[in-house]
Amino acid sequence: MISQSNLYFKNLLEHLAAINSCDFKFKNDYWINQFLSLSKELSNIRYLPNLMPLIYPDFLYGHHGNYLGDLLQFNANGFNQGINLSDHCQFDFIVKDASCEFNNYKSIRGKCQADHFWPHSLGGPTILENRVLLCKFHNLAKSNSILDSFWKEYPCWLDDYLTRMYHLKIN
Ligand SMILES: [Zn+2]
Repeated sequence: MISQSNLYFKNLLEHLAAINSCDFKFKNDYWINQFLSLSKELSNIRYLPNLMPLIYPDFLYGHHGNYLGDLLQFNANGFNQGINLSDHCQFDFIVKDASCEFNNYKSIRGKCQADHFWPHSLGGPTILENRVLLCKFHNLAKSNSILDSFWKEYPCWLDDYLTRMYHLKIN
C-alpha cells in the first residue's frame, strides 16, 4: 500500500508538472480550481495528502505574481519566543516510540529550538500551531523528511490557512 508521504509527493509532482513554465495567472487559476474541487474534503484526514500540496511555496503568489506569504503568517509573532530551559524536546512527538535522552540533562542540553512541524520548505507556516520544540541535537537530526506521524492528526491551522489563501487568490 502506498504511504501517505508517497501519495503527497505524487500529488505535488502532478501539480508542479501541470504549472511548469506557466504564468502567474494560470498558476493562480489552477490553484483555485484545485482548492474548489477539494473544498468539501477540508477537515477530512484521509485527504491530507491531497490538501497539503496546496500550501507548497510555489502557490503563494497571486495572479499578478504578488507574494501572499506575508499576509498568511498569522500568529507569526512568538514562534521563537517563550522557550524555557525546562521545556521538553518533542522528538517523541515526531518520531513514534522515540524519546529524547537529553531531556534528563537539560543543563547540558540547553534550551530547545523552534522548528516547523510541517517543513518550511514545503510551505509549513511560521505559526505557533505548526511549531515543534526540539533540542539542538534532534533539530539537526530531523531534516525535512516528512515523518509518518504527521498524517495521524489533522493540522488545526490548515483549513483556516487554505481559506485565507483562497480569499487572497480570488481578489
Ligand atoms: Zn531531543
